[in-house]
Amino acid sequence: MLADAQHLDTQDPLKSIGSAFALPQGVIYLDGNSLGPLPIAARERAVEVTAGQWGTDLITSWNKHRWIDLPTICGEQIAPIIGAGSEQVVCCDSISVNLFKVLSAALAMQSDRHKVITTEDNFPTDIYTVEGLQEQLGTQRCELIKVAETDIERSLDEHTAVLLLTQVNFRSGRLLDMQALTSAAHKKGILVVWDLAHSAGAVPVALDEHGADFAVGCTYKYLNGGPGAPAFIYVAKRHQRRFRQPISGWMGHATPFAFDNSYAPSQSIKQSLSGTPPVLSMSVLNAALALWADIDMTHVRAKSIALSEFFLEALNTLGLTKELTCISPLIAEERGSQLAFRHEHSYAICQAWIDAGVIADFRAPDILRIGFAPLYLSFADLWHACEKLKEVVESRAYLDEKYQRKLAVT
Ligand SMILES: *Cc1c(COP(=O)(O)O)cnc(C)c1O
Repeated sequence: MLADAQHLDTQDPLKSIGSAFALPQGVIYLDGNSLGPLPIAARERAVEVTAGQWGTDLITSWNKHRWIDLPTICGEQIAPIIGAGSEQVVCCDSISVNLFKVLSAALAMQSDRHKVITTEDNFPTDIYTVEGLQEQLGTQRCELIKVAETDIERSLDEHTAVLLLTQVNFRSGRLLDMQALTSAAHKKGILVVWDLAHSAGAVPVALDEHGADFAVGCTYKYLNGGPGAPAFIYVAKRHQRRFRQPISGWMGHATPFAFDNSYAPSQSIKQSLSGTPPVLSMSVLNAALALWADIDMTHVRAKSIALSEFFLEALNTLGLTKELTCISPLIAEERGSQLAFRHEHSYAICQAWIDAGVIADFRAPDILRIGFAPLYLSFADLWHACEKLKEVVESRAYLDEKYQRKLAVT
C-alpha cells in the first residue's frame, strides 16, 4: 500500500501547503484536531510582535500595528472558513466564555421559553456552561435537557429556547446535519447555537446559508493558532441589534475610548467583546490564519475523507481491525475529520505509539482518537503510522509499565 499512498500524494492539490508548517523531523502528527502544529509564519510573527512591536514601538503599537483591530481582523479571516459573511465574527476569549455569552443572550431573546437542549455526549464544557447558567438563572429560566444524538429532532418543543449542538462529536467524530437541524429548530421558534470546535478548518461549514443563529469555535485545533489561542464567536447579522451578552466590558462598548461611565453596547459584532485582547496570541493567530486565504475547503474535505478511508483500509490490510473497534460512523460523509477506536488498552497503546514517533490522543474511557488534518498530512505518513501501530499492538509493547502511567493531559 505504500506505492498507493505515494501515488495519492502526487495527486494531492494541498501538497505544497505542508511546507508552511514547522513539524519536527521523524514525527507523524495525527493530533491536529487537538492542537494544530506551528506554522512557520506564526513563529516569525511571535518574534516580530514581541521584539519588533512591543519591544520597539511600545504602546504606540495599538494604533501603529493595529493591535486594537486584531479581534475583528482575525474574525474576518475566520468568517469565510465557516461560511459567514462579513461583520458577523470576532475573535475573543475561549469557547467556554463565548458559550456563556451567547447562551445568556439567546435565553434573554426567548423570554417565554426556558429549555436548553443539548446532546448527552456533548463536550463537557458545553454541558457545564449550561449547568452554570441553570444555577445562576434558576430552572424557570434555564433548564438543561440532555438527549441522545439520535433524539434531537423529536425532543424539540414549544418550551425549548435554545438548541446547543456541537457539529462534530469530539469522541466519535459524528457530523450532525446543520441544515436539517437548524431548520427543524427554527420551525418551532428555537434559536440554534453551533459549536464548531472540530469543524472549523476541518469540514466546509455554511453558517449563513443554513441560517444558523449563533456559533462559537476555537482556533488552536484545525486552524493552527497555537496553544490556548483565542476562540471566536458568530452572531448572525439579523440578531445583532437584539443581542445583549452579559459580560459587558469596555471592548464591547460603542465607544470604548470615550471612557463613558455607563455602558452603551456596540451595535455591531464587537459587542461580543469584553476585555483587552491577548495581543501576543492573537497576532500569532493572525499569521496562522493567513494560510487559509488560498485554501479551498472542498479540497480540504475531499482529502480529509480520502485520508481517513485510506487509514481504515490500511488497518484492514495490516489485520488490525480485530484489535481496534472503530466507533466512528463508517460512512465518510457522516463524520468530521477524525476516527475513534475502542480498545481496552487505548491509553497505553497511544503512549507506546507516541514513543514510536506517531502522535495521536486518548479520550476517556477507552478511545484512541486519530485526527486527519489535510494541510500537512500525507498518505505515506499514514501508511508508516499504521505499520508502527501494528508493531506496537502485535508486540504488546504497550503492556510495559511506563505506558500505563496517566499524564495530566491526555
Ligand atoms: C475543544 C473543545 C472546546 C474547548 O473549549 P475552550 O473553552 O476553548 O477550552 C469546547 N467545545 C468543544 C466541542 C471542543 O471540542
